[in-house]
Amino acid sequence: MRLERSRRMAQHRIIAVTGPSGAGKSSITHGVTTLLPQLRFSVSITTRKPRALEQNGKDYHFVSDEEFRQLVSDGKLAEYEEVYPGTFYGTLHTELARASGEQPMLLDIDVKGALRLQASYPGESLTIFIQPPSVEALQARLRQRATESTESMRARLQRAEEEMHYVNVFNAVVVNNSLERAVAETADLIRSFLGTQ
Ligand code: 5GP
Repeated sequence: MRLERSRRMAQHRIIAVTGPSGAGKSSITHGVTTLLPQLRFSVSITTRKPRALEQNGKDYHFVSDEEFRQLVSDGKLAEYEEVYPGTFYGTLHTELARASGEQPMLLDIDVKGALRLQASYPGESLTIFIQPPSVEALQARLRQRATESTESMRARLQRAEEEMHYVNVFNAVVVNNSLERAVAETADLIRSFLGTQ
């Protein structure tokens, strides 16, 4: 019985790319899925409003506060976090259930969510912290993003500075000095985790 369970669990392959907002996580996850097309991107649930080019069901499942609360009370989320005051993000159990050796799951997730997954799936998850070259570089990146209001930008900056302290608690760290190098390094880490190197 125990053996059966461990075999079943060993089939999960969950890769979480984490780090401060503005560190380049989403560019890196996009780059990595091009290099490693067998990875499936886990589409999160969020109460944030879609940005101009974002598609519902592809970038996120955009839901109302009420719908999010319902998903939480129905136990549908493997983890969730109020990443910014009043704005929630979460990972569906159904997304993680699909993660397997043939179809590893790639997540772009905040540090607290990544810590939770690391604790829930020890040995079946790889957590990679994307570190910006410096706090100043991170601030400059966040300010360049014209998508946020001043209020939202302030919240993101504050949160990002806090998140920088988590650098040493994950399985690996990639410094995002150059996007191309960071994508290549992240892909190498994933290949060796999946045993394909
Ligand atoms: P953004 O609004 O810029 O798309 O994402 C804001 C933050 O929420 C990022 O740090 C992103 O990684 C994180 N995030 C996205 N999806 C999830 C999720 O399902 N769970 C958690 N905990 N964080 C998420």
